[in-house]
Amino acid sequence: PDPFQIFPVTGGRRYSEVQIDMNSTAFKPIHPPVRTLMGPGPSDIHPSVLAAMAAPTVGHLDPYFLQIMDEVQTMLRQVFQTDNQMTMAISGTGSAGMEACVVNLIEPGDKMIACQNGVFGGRMADVAGRAGADVTKLERPFGEVFSTEDIAKAVDQHKPKVVGIVHAETSTGALQPLEEISKVVHDAGALLLVDCVTSLAGLPVEIDKLNIDAAYSGSQKCLSCPPGLAPVTFSPKALGVMDARKTKVASWYLDISMLRNYWGGDRAYHHTAPINMNYGLHQALRLVLEEGLDARFARHRLHHEALKAGLEAMGIGYSVANAEHSLPMLNSVLIPDGVDDAGVRKQLLNEFGIEIGGGLGPMKGKTWRIGLMGDAAQKPNVLLFLAALEQCLA
Ligand code: PLP
Repeated sequence: PDPFQIFPVTGGRRYSEVQIDMNSTAFKPIHPPVRTLMGPGPSDIHPSVLAAMAAPTVGHLDPYFLQIMDEVQTMLRQVFQTDNQMTMAISGTGSAGMEACVVNLIEPGDKMIACQNGVFGGRMADVAGRAGADVTKLERPFGEVFSTEDIAKAVDQHKPKVVGIVHAETSTGALQPLEEISKVVHDAGALLLVDCVTSLAGLPVEIDKLNIDAAYSGSQKCLSCPPGLAPVTFSPKALGVMDARKTKVASWYLDISMLRNYWGGDRAYHHTAPINMNYGLHQALRLVLEEGLDARFARHRLHHEALKAGLEAMGIGYSVANAEHSLPMLNSVLIPDGVDDAGVRKQLLNEFGIEIGGGLGPMKGKTWRIGLMGDAAQKPNVLLFLAALEQCLA
């Protein structure tokens, strides 16, 4: 018998003739509310990025998709400001990018310093420990940054293979200066691994100028693409360290030696790339480059200054220890005394459609995290948010 004739859902009709009755199931089609995403990510997405993601799926080895991959790599190199050949988008969120960097650079017993002044530095230490590293956690209080002396002392004492640090700590709103630290790390013969999840495309991330050996980001912050891809880049030196490994990379999925053969070289099948996510990232990167990096950084800075002025006029201050280190795209502010943290965030969401974030880790209940990332860094959003918050606090 013709299998299509007996296919149960079709009731005997040919599959191609089936008209799907949207009301035939208990589950309604998705109809998400439209939000203004001013939290710690995901950020607002440009409609053209969503439209790109709805384009027809092709095969992961289709010549068309291979060209898209090449273009994604070329555009990522420009955004990372690097000539690194091994620059690509890991399938997965920012944490997958973090794991990819750590597991490929670390072999069991290798020494790694993980700098923790917020939640994400702590996550890096956790990931490194799971990869078998002999981890030294270098700590600063949440909201502070590391000085060159802190790092110099630690590398001198521990002689690590890798130093991992977060450029833009989303849990505290602090921007870590990297230039001097990079010199100290390299003078000690170590590799510098940088978390650029929140900084990429919102702040200069100058991989080559700063001599960063490995870096990872996420698609959903200042790149303004939905979550699902983690841009990464590795210097030739980092690739050399990977080539000299004596042990297999602890993760099959994230093994760069195999991913290199798919994203470059032989185009050998490794895993099925998330085709439509890459379409989205491709369009998001086009928008970044069309705007221009400097203009984009200036836009983030401008709207941060405007938001800050508005908040200060309302008596609301920032939680970062030194104002010089405030991130433009993630404004971590102190919740005024006596204000109901969750209540205000709920009111912002329900009455104004605005999402902001609460504090993470020890900052829970103490701070709000207001994102101005990518497409969300716009004048109407700043004004809407300030007016809405004023109402919530009235
Ligand atoms: N690192 C930083 C600085 C982040 O802000 C985040 C996410 O917010 C991550 C890492 C983890 O990324 P993801 O949540 O996309 O896995």
